[in-house]
Formats: sequence, structure tokens, C-alpha cells
Amino acid sequence: MDGRPLKVGGYTPFSTTDYPGHLSAVVFVQGCPWRCGYCHNPHLQQRTRDSPLSWSALLAGLERRVGLLDAVVFCGGEATMDPTLGDAIAQVRALGFKVGLETACIYPDRLKPLLQALDWVGFDVKAPFARYAEITGVAGSGEPARESVEAILASGVDYECRTTVHPAQLPAATLIELAATLAGMGVNNYALQEFRATGCADEALVAAAIAGYPGGDTLAKIAPMFPRFTMRRGH
Ligand code: SF4
Repeated sequence: MDGRPLKVGGYTPFSTTDYPGHLSAVVFVQGCPWRCGYCHNPHLQQRTRDSPLSWSALLAGLERRVGLLDAVVFCGGEATMDPTLGDAIAQVRALGFKVGLETACIYPDRLKPLLQALDWVGFDVKAPFARYAEITGVAGSGEPARESVEAILASGVDYECRTTVHPAQLPAATLIELAATLAGMGVNNYALQEFRATGCADEALVAAAIAGYPGGDTLAKIAPMFPRFTMRRGH
């Protein structure tokens, strides 16, 4: 540690869903440079001067739970934005926990050195790479995402690739195009996540949501592209 501890904006002490098949604690790291309309955690987008939660206190709590928990998952915001994430991962590994990372694939150069220390990565692909700015609000955001996905796949780490689906952002034809691109890149575990209004600050997106989207016809085209495919609704 260089004296700047991880900036933690939230913490879930027990989760059965964030690390597949394991009981995990989830650490929400502050900071994200993108502005997706469907973001559930807009309060984590800014990095505040003082960390709302103390990383050293959380780490001490994790140490007391060795044997009760299997894993620790870092998410955000975008956890790779924090320059001390690698140190935090090493500290958690030293306690014997498996380590997971949820990332939006924003910083490939920060992600790559972390991959060998991770047991599992849940990563978002938001749209066809050329159309990323329509979701993130940030020009050029598709290229770092593509580079990150290629690095994750090349690393051999266990993973799940996910896309949040809203009919106004990803119509069926675009979604099928995206799935085909990912399958072509070698993604073998893909999940679609239904848009959730909970926590979403974009009223237009909430109003335009369609229950049950994407429908069975679209899913029937996408599912066979992947050895493992999940449609997650009401998650
Ligand atoms: S990348 Fe994730 S944390 Fe950042 S704005 Fe988008 S949904 Fe929110």
C-alpha cells in the first residue's frame, strides 16, 4: 500500500449471487468515468476525497470471516479505476479467499496486470463496439472495451460475459449482431440481463422499458451461439 487505501463506497457482507457457486462478500469501489443511463449505482460514479467506508476496517472484518466466506468480489463503479485495487486483491488473496472482479472493461491497461491474480471475472459488454458511446455517453469507449474483452479471453480466467438489454438501446437485430460478434471472439459463457428500473435515474429509459424483452424469437437465435447462455430476468 502506498498510503492511499481503496476508496470503498459500499459493501455487501454476504452474497450468494455475485460469485457463481460461492458465498462471497462484495466490495463496491468508488469511481466510474462512463455515464450509462441504466446505471444502478450512480452514487458510486464520483470518487470522494474521503472513502465512505474504511478499507482497513473491511479487511479486518474479512480476516475474522476466514472459513465462513469463500470469496471476495470487487465491483463498482469501475473498480479498476482505483490505483490500489491490485494491493487490495493481494491482501484478500493472502487471507485465502478466492477473488472475483466485476468490470465494465474500461481500462484494459489496468486490467491486464490484475488478471493473473483473479479467479473469476464478470464483465460487461454494453453494445456493438462501434456503438458504445450511445450507451456510455463517452466517445471512443468501445475500443478499450474490445481490448479488455480480448485480454480476458486470452488470459484463461474463468468468466461470465454480460449485456444489459433495453429495447430502446439494443433492438433485437443489434442484440443478435452483438451476440454473433462475441461468439466470434470466443466468448463461451454469455448472459443477458433484463433492464431493471430499480436505481435507474433515467426516466426515459424507465418509461420505455418493455417487460419480457428480449422475446423468445430473439433468444432462440442467440442461445445456440454459446455453450453456456443465461437470460436473467428480475435479477
Ligand atoms: S460502466 Fe457501470 S458503473 Fe459506470 S456508469 Fe456504466 S453502469 Fe454505471
